[in-house]
Amino acid sequence: MGNKQTTFTPEQLDAYQDATFFTRKEILRLFYRYRDLAPQLVPLDYTSKPKDNPFRQRIAEVFSEDGEGNMTLDDFLDMFSVMSEMAPRDLKAYYAFKIYDFNNDDYICKSDLEKTVNKLTRRELTPEEVSLVCNKVIDEADLDNDGQLSLEDFQHMIVRAPDFLSTFHIRI
Ligand code: MG
Repeated sequence: MGNKQTTFTPEQLDAYQDATFFTRKEILRLFYRYRDLAPQLVPLDYTSKPKDNPFRQRIAEVFSEDGEGNMTLDDFLDMFSVMSEMAPRDLKAYYAFKIYDFNNDDYICKSDLEKTVNKLTRRELTPEEVSLVCNKVIDEADLDNDGQLSLEDFQHMIVRAPDFLSTFHIRI
């Protein structure tokens, strides 16, 4: 109450007004309804152009029943449930694995890893550096030496990553 949080600049509100049939008041009202769907995912401050989670689309694909990111209420609840503190590590690891398995073949291969590294580093590494990082990850985590990571390889890797549980988490 009495909180003077600035969500949009006046210019941004003008732009939304120009692009829609809504008044400023209606735009703000819609924003709060939208935000209420997922308060931890929607920033309260757009003035400094916050960056979206680079895995946003991929996470929606993995949790949506149609595989294209169109989430039903059930999908939405499942996603938050897996991301909750109560979800066990193996369940989180299973979904993290699916998120990184971009080609959905039940293995994380080098090209899956390259996509992940590019997203995590926001394309700031050269292709050679990305390749080096991916080879290193496969070297360390590929326990059966088939050149790609199975779910089992991945789970072993997660056990050695103490911050995994806290990062694969959304508070609701
Ligand atoms: Mg794969």
